Amino acid sequence: MRVVIVGAAGRMGCAIREALAHRPEIQLAGAIDREADASRGISTDLDSVLRGADVMIDFSSPSSTAANLAACVRHGVAALVGTTGLGDEAARAATEASSRIPVLVAANTSLGVTLLIELVRQAAKALPADFDIEITEGHHRHKKDAPSGTALALGRAAADGRGLSFEAVRGSTREGEAPRRAGEIGFSVIRAGDLVGDHDVLFAGEGERITLGHQATDRAIFARGALKAASWLSGRAPGRYQMVDVLGLKTSA
Ligand code: NAD
Repeated sequence: MRVVIVGAAGRMGCAIREALAHRPEIQLAGAIDREADASRGISTDLDSVLRGADVMIDFSSPSSTAANLAACVRHGVAALVGTTGLGDEAARAATEASSRIPVLVAANTSLGVTLLIELVRQAAKALPADFDIEITEGHHRHKKDAPSGTALALGRAAADGRGLSFEAVRGSTREGEAPRRAGEIGFSVIRAGDLVGDHDVLFAGEGERITLGHQATDRAIFARGALKAASWLSGRAPGRYQMVDVLGLKTSA
């Protein structure tokens, strides 16, 4: 299998290249970033490296997601998008592209978080609606989007478990003295040092509380998951897929 990495000079791009060393069956067909760097085999021409590739692995920035997906459609290449903070245009582009190629958009490609999302869905379904749900996440000081894509995915799973639309119950990061709305899912954000990614989901009732959480200590977990997902995606029928499909962790919500 041949993969193209977009965002190849970044933290995740480097982690994926390192992880490739343990997957000899996967070849690097191209490494793309904003600026070419011949010493590291990085170029800026996505179209030329997609020719003959099987999967694009994109960990770059939301501004290029739609164009990168369009390039994958032109070349019939499967797309794994790990970039977070995607807006409406990117979401629409992913849906459109999935009628022509296999597409997997994952805010978190780790096994642990994929399982956590399913556990949160189950907990939200099982617990009474008067349990408040609060999501806390922490990342390194350079992270651009907040709350993290993973925190939003956890919120979406919790809303889904309760049979509610996430948009209707999504709370903001709390400031001032406004009281909590009943049923609102709240978010708190920490940006500090070199935190790789911490997520906790608190279910708090009267007299008891449950916390489900995950701490990432090494980016290699996202890189390994991304390569696993890319292998799984290669050769699939066009459509929209999720990490839970790749890892076989689907629970009945
Ligand atoms: P980073 O800033 O270290 O790297 C991003 C790289 O992408 C940089 O080298 C940058 O130059 C490049 N880039 C940006 N725009 C580009 C464009 N238009 N074309 C080509 N290259 C471009 O960031 P990072 O920590 O590697 O994270 C990258 C993305 O992946 C972020 O959105 C982050 O939130 C997300 N992320 C996802 C997961 C996951 O499991 N899905 C895990 C960690 C990070």
